Amino acid sequence: TTTVHKAGRTFNDLEDRIEEQMASVAKMPNNASNRHVTTPPSSRVTAAAVSVRSKTPSSSSSSSRRSVTPNSRSHTRLNDADDAESGRVRVAIRLRPKNTEEILSDADFFDCVEPQPELKKLKLKKNNWSSESYRFDEVFTESASQKRVYEAVAKPVVEGVLNGYNGTIMAYGQTGTGKTYTLGKLGKDDASERGIMVRALEDIISGASSPSDSIEISYLQIYMESVQDLLAPEKVNIPIVEDPKNGEVTVPGAAVVNIQNVDHFLQVLQIGEANRHAANTKMNTESSRSHAILMVSLRRSVNDKEENSTSFQGKDDRSVLVGGHVIPTVRKSKLLIVDLAGSERLDKSGSEGHLVEETKFINLSLSSLGKCINALAENSPHIPTRDSKLTRLLRDSFGGSARTSLIVTIGPSSRHHTETASTIMFGQRAMKVVNFVKLKE
Ligand code: ADP
Ligand code: MG
Repeated sequence: TTTVHKAGRTFNDLEDRIEEQMASVAKMPNNASNRHVTTPPSSRVTAAAVSVRSKTPSSSSSSSRRSVTPNSRSHTRLNDADDAESGRVRVAIRLRPKNTEEILSDADFFDCVEPQPELKKLKLKKNNWSSESYRFDEVFTESASQKRVYEAVAKPVVEGVLNGYNGTIMAYGQTGTGKTYTLGKLGKDDASERGIMVRALEDIISGASSPSDSIEISYLQIYMESVQDLLAPEKVNIPIVEDPKNGEVTVPGAAVVNIQNVDHFLQVLQIGEANRHAANTKMNTESSRSHAILMVSLRRSVNDKEENSTSFQGKDDRSVLVGGHVIPTVRKSKLLIVDLAGSERLDKSGSEGHLVEETKFINLSLSSLGKCINALAENSPHIPTRDSKLTRLLRDSFGGSARTSLIVTIGPSSRHHTETASTIMFGQRAMKVVNFVKLKE
């Protein structure tokens, strides 16, 4: 039709760059069908977007494949609303407010993005007469509060974790667009500024309040394919271990802190931040060139009373068989909150020595993440998680019954139009991930 067209003609260079960034990612059919010109009536745009969704694997095929996943036995315990949340990447986009420099001296540039939160669309303007709209699960303007972002994007993942399901919350975007603000802001002076890490722990601490429940965290950084411990900075190159029996991914060499309360967590996080800063100063690099990963491991006991009162909704990891009935006793789940390295164009030319090496590794992990997302979107039987440390760490928190949210962050200025467009495209690809399953390679 004339209402939806592949914008490749005008965005050729951008497409090339994404191809380059995502290395050998297979080109998806209907590559541009989530993209729309802005002129047609919005109803058509919505219909087109819906039809993209319907092209994804049918629920019957996904549920039959899901039946082979380890969590399937208890998966049916989730209600329909929960079910719709699992196996699907929720993608949100957040616009950062203008900074001082943009307000004072950005006269040669214009505001190139226009969020339309009610329509869940974002308009990207090339110039005054040409723009395109992109659909997301959530669209946040520059005035969206931390609380709103948390509730719309992170809370469903955290609720899954409290019910025994693994989950991942990631932020992707150019350096300076608000990834760390969104995820890692401590808000020590103003609790309303607290980011997703602190809010998630608040909810997990209050949700898992039984004395036998335990909340343990590790805080890691991946820099140049080396896993480093932000809570024990002398530890570098820590191995990532995958249990061959149940696929559980652990980092047994990393320091683990048992979290008692929110203040305790804030202190631990602050130590991690200080170590991150010190490590990067020592290595003479920027924190934007590494991934920071907060790993929260939750263990909850489920007693008979709870089971009988059917308040138990999640999966069970260790179960006992009593009189032919499975009585779950312990539920284990894991939440990963991932502040990704800056997605800005990482040129091969222009930089030297150490920077070239850094760049190669960042390209490797971000392109490997992109490949996994695309493979999941295509329901491919092979999810290439082995290619980078980042995706190996994400392996069991990604797909199957796990819930995943991706927040893409952008700035307002046309100065960074190309980077912004590239970030939007990454988010658009992730939007296609529906009902993927946890697969054995
Ligand atoms: P990144 O981690 O993506 O490099 P930061 O989170 O460090 O970016 O954000 C860059 C700057 O912009 C910081 O000073 C941060 O406080 C500010 N900032 C980012 N997003 C917001 C926001 N939504 N509201 C207010 N300030 C923000
Ligand atoms: Mg940052």
